Amino acid sequence: MTAMFRAASWAFRGLRRSSVPLSARTSSNRADRSCALAEKVAVITGSTKGIGFIIARRLAEDGAHVVISSRKQQNVDRAVAELQGEGLSVTGTVCHVGKAEDRERLVATALEHCGRVDFLVCVAGVNPLVGSTLGASEQVWDKILDVNVKSPALLLSQLLPHMENRGTGAVVLVSSMVAYVPIPKLGVYNTSKTALLGLCKSLAVELAPKGIRVNCLVPGIIKTEFSQVEKTLPYLLPDFSDIYGLQRFGEPEECAGIVCFLCSPDASYITGKNIVVAGYSPKL
Ligand code: NAP
Repeated sequence: MTAMFRAASWAFRGLRRSSVPLSARTSSNRADRSCALAEKVAVITGSTKGIGFIIARRLAEDGAHVVISSRKQQNVDRAVAELQGEGLSVTGTVCHVGKAEDRERLVATALEHCGRVDFLVCVAGVNPLVGSTLGASEQVWDKILDVNVKSPALLLSQLLPHMENRGTGAVVLVSSMVAYVPIPKLGVYNTSKTALLGLCKSLAVELAPKGIRVNCLVPGIIKTEFSQVEKTLPYLLPDFSDIYGLQRFGEPEECAGIVCFLCSPDASYITGKNIVVAGYSPKL
C-alpha cells in the first residue's frame, strides 16, 4: 500500500511537471536537483505558510516526499493543494506542535502514507508577547517554551524509533538571530530561541551514535506574516543599517536551500551546527 502510494505520487509528479508551465530558471533548477533527496521522507512542522512552506516546497522539489503540517485544517488543505498542483509529492495533516495527540497524529500520518521518516524539520514557533521579560505571565512562558523548545524534542522522541533503525537521518531546528542579538520587548521569545541552540548541540551529541545529524537554521529577519516587516518591526528594532551587511531583509527562499543541504548526503559529516542566514554574521 505504502509502496503503491509512493509509486503513484512519483508518477503523478512526473506527469504534472511536464504539464505545469514554470519559469525557465525554476524549471532547470528543479531538473538539476530533482534526485538529491529521492525516496526520502521529510516531516515538517509549521509548514503551511512562510519559511516552513517554502522549505517544504524545496524539499519536495529535491525529490523528497514531504508531510506538511500546521494548526489549521484549511491552511493544510491549501498548502497541500498548491504543492500537489505544482506536481510535488506532498501530503498533510493538522498538527499543533504543543499538543501531544497532534504530534502522535503527525507521526502516524507520515508512517501510514510513507512508511518511513528520514528528516524532521521543526519550523513551528510562536511569539504571543511584545513586552518586558519580567512582566510575562507564567502562561506566556509556558506557551512559548512548549511550542518553541519542548515540542521539537518531544516530536523527535516520538519519531526516533522510526528513524534510528536505518542508522541515518537528519533533523533541522529553526532558531533566530535573536538568540545572538536579542530584540528588546521580545525577551521570552529571545530566550526560547537561545535554548534551541543548546538543544541542537545536546541532541547532536546524543544522536550521533545513531547516525542521526542535528543542525539548526538561524534566520535573521525574513519577510513573512510572522515578522510583519512593515507593521511591527520598525517599532522594535534599532537602526539595522549599521549591522545588516546586505542592507535588506531576507526572503523565505533564502532559508530553504540550506535546509535541503543539511538534509542531503552533501552534509553527511555535519552535525551540531547553528547556521546563520541573516545577511550578516554576529561574529563579524
Ligand atoms: P509564519 O509565516 O507566520 O508561518 C508560521 C507557520 O507555522 C504557519 O504555517 C502556521 O500555520 C504554523 N504554526 C504556528 N503556530 C503553530 C503551532 N503551534 N504548531 C504548528 N504550526 C504552527 O512564520 P515564519 O516567519 O515562517 O516563522 C517560522 C519560524 O521561523 C518560527 O519558528 C520563527 O520563530 C522563525 N523565525 C522567523 C523569522 C522571521 O523573520 N520571519 C526570523 C527568525 C526565526 P497555522 O496558523 O495553521 O498553525
